[in-house]
Amino acid sequence: LVVLDDVQKWFGDLHVLQDIDLTIKRGEVVVVIGPSGSGKSTLCRTINRLEPIEAGTIALDGEKLPQEGKALAQLRAEVGMVFQGFNLFAHKTILQNVTLGPIKVLGKSKADAERRAKELLTRVGIAEQAEKYPAQLSGGQQQRVAIARALAMDPKVMLFDEPTSALDPEMIKEVLDVMVDLAEQGMTMVVVTHEMGFARTAGDRVIFMADGRIVEENTPNEFFTNPQSDRAQDFLGKIL
Ligand code: ATP
Ligand code: MG
Repeated sequence: LVVLDDVQKWFGDLHVLQDIDLTIKRGEVVVVIGPSGSGKSTLCRTINRLEPIEAGTIALDGEKLPQEGKALAQLRAEVGMVFQGFNLFAHKTILQNVTLGPIKVLGKSKADAERRAKELLTRVGIAEQAEKYPAQLSGGQQQRVAIARALAMDPKVMLFDEPTSALDPEMIKEVLDVMVDLAEQGMTMVVVTHEMGFARTAGDRVIFMADGRIVEENTPNEFFTNPQSDRAQDFLGKIL
């Protein structure tokens, strides 16, 4: 579904993504893990072209992602993204946060968008908060709204960049539960996280990155119990 072929990206002199080859199949859940600065966020941002790349290609569902223009906006709408900070519109209600994209970008009617938004808010367990504003919700609830908002665009793939790392411990589980549920329903997902529980339950594959490269790729079980490279062993030794 998503194919990266020999992708290279520089920030000035920094070769932040090097020789990235990655194929993500439909319905697959790929967990990306690695030390700070290894390029995990940059990888996510290049997949939906928030960042241009200097060489290589990225294809989504067989179509090469263009670098700019209207076609890019269209393709970008097919990639949902959830960040560490919740990035909700503070002056809009929860319901408006979820309906805005479908109305503006997909051209849905307000009634259709609201019907779908309510379904999604029910699915992530916050239907009763629809008329509130983001600041009135807990971090975990806000993050679940962010997931519902991304899903409202009917994305082909969902990217999560450390979605639980800004949350208090007791809220992490409620967000991970929503993600596990999504994975079980067959959503294609790329998830940057150090949550091993999630990786083990929902992950099909772990990608370990260091210094802009994919250093290791394995099943979650193999990766966590039997890391091959020194870099991965060293990293796991620090986080476990
Ligand atoms: P973390 O675990 O801390 O989130 P990461 O693996 O997500 O790290 P990236 O955010 O992708 O790492 O950053 C990779 C490298 O690129 C880092 O050295 C970072 O300083 C650098 N970098 C990221 N964004 C930019 C930018 N816009 N301009 C210049 N350098 C950048
Ligand atoms: Mg990051």
